[in-house]
Amino acid sequence: MQEKSVMIQKKDWIVGRRLLLEWFEVHQRALPWRENPTPYATWLCEIIMQQTRIDQGLRYWNEFLTIWPDVQRLAAAPLDDILKAWQGLGYYSRARNLHRAARIIASDRKGKFPTNAAEWRTMPGVGPYTAAAISSICLGERVAAIDGNVLRVISRLLGIEEPIDRPAGRKQIEAFSDEWLDDIDPGKHNEAVMELGATVCTPRAPQCSECPLANICKSDQANVGSTPSIPRKAGKTKVQNMNLTFHVVTDGQHIWMRQRPENGVWGGLWEFPSHVESDGDEYTSPPLPPREMGAATVSSQGMWGQSFEHILSHRRITCRFWLWKPSAGFHPDEGRWLPWREAHKLAIPRALDRFWLDLEKSQSTNSPH
Ligand code: SF4
Repeated sequence: MQEKSVMIQKKDWIVGRRLLLEWFEVHQRALPWRENPTPYATWLCEIIMQQTRIDQGLRYWNEFLTIWPDVQRLAAAPLDDILKAWQGLGYYSRARNLHRAARIIASDRKGKFPTNAAEWRTMPGVGPYTAAAISSICLGERVAAIDGNVLRVISRLLGIEEPIDRPAGRKQIEAFSDEWLDDIDPGKHNEAVMELGATVCTPRAPQCSECPLANICKSDQANVGSTPSIPRKAGKTKVQNMNLTFHVVTDGQHIWMRQRPENGVWGGLWEFPSHVESDGDEYTSPPLPPREMGAATVSSQGMWGQSFEHILSHRRITCRFWLWKPSAGFHPDEGRWLPWREAHKLAIPRALDRFWLDLEKSQSTNSPH
């Protein structure tokens, strides 16, 4: 490791490591996946918990383990069932990759899980952090797991001024984490740093007076109670605005649903066919019927309700529902024509689920049946 990356003395971080592990023994939250960490349950947990609050993720983790208690049953499940169970968690590529990886493990590897972080990284949807977390926690491999919590704790501990989202800052954190990692129980060490970041060294108002590393930390602890200047970030990706129209084709009893392509936003989920009407702030209304519906086979009934915003990581989407009434010649080339209740059992984006019952009710009220 380069001298520059070590801003605290080795004898100090050795003591800090012991204090951290002792603190973890006493203060760690009682989380069910810590009781008996198997590769299957830990892998599920790590994938579900990405970008997810613990209370929300815990519900999904329990449900997945109940429905699919082992990798063979997960691999054998239809993708649609997995997407449905995933509904509400967002970032659906995680669910599709989970399913792909389950099939690789169950079939190609004959049920044998990867045995180290390098093998885990060859699985779909498993990046360096997830591979290191599973491997250190379940297999005792000495490999540092670096997530957002760890980046924050280590950058403050060492007083790293370089942005953590740039290679210079990141490398310093990786180099120190590798050296600092406990030889005897690297999994516990990784969990302890993450736990400290989640509960004490929080993004705003870290509780330095409760921190086992306070005596060696190079951050400005005089600012306790306010947002510290470390970690620094170079910049955020610009949020893109777009306007999306969902085309609701219904005779009151049935609704036309289409499955989105696997790649891209809401990949593999079902929806009312949608089109990006325009990038920017304004709609160019009213919309034209989508080509695949056939302009002659539907008539416009106008917009339903108000437009609403749906926020994704780098997109602010203004959505609207546009109603269409089908004529006798309505036979779209793709998708499904289903009773409303059946259609609601499909895996759908949260943006639709929020309004589904109101929309269904308003349409069945208008139905002549
Ligand atoms: S002393 Fe404060 S800033 Fe330093 S690691 Fe602990 S909680 Fe974070």
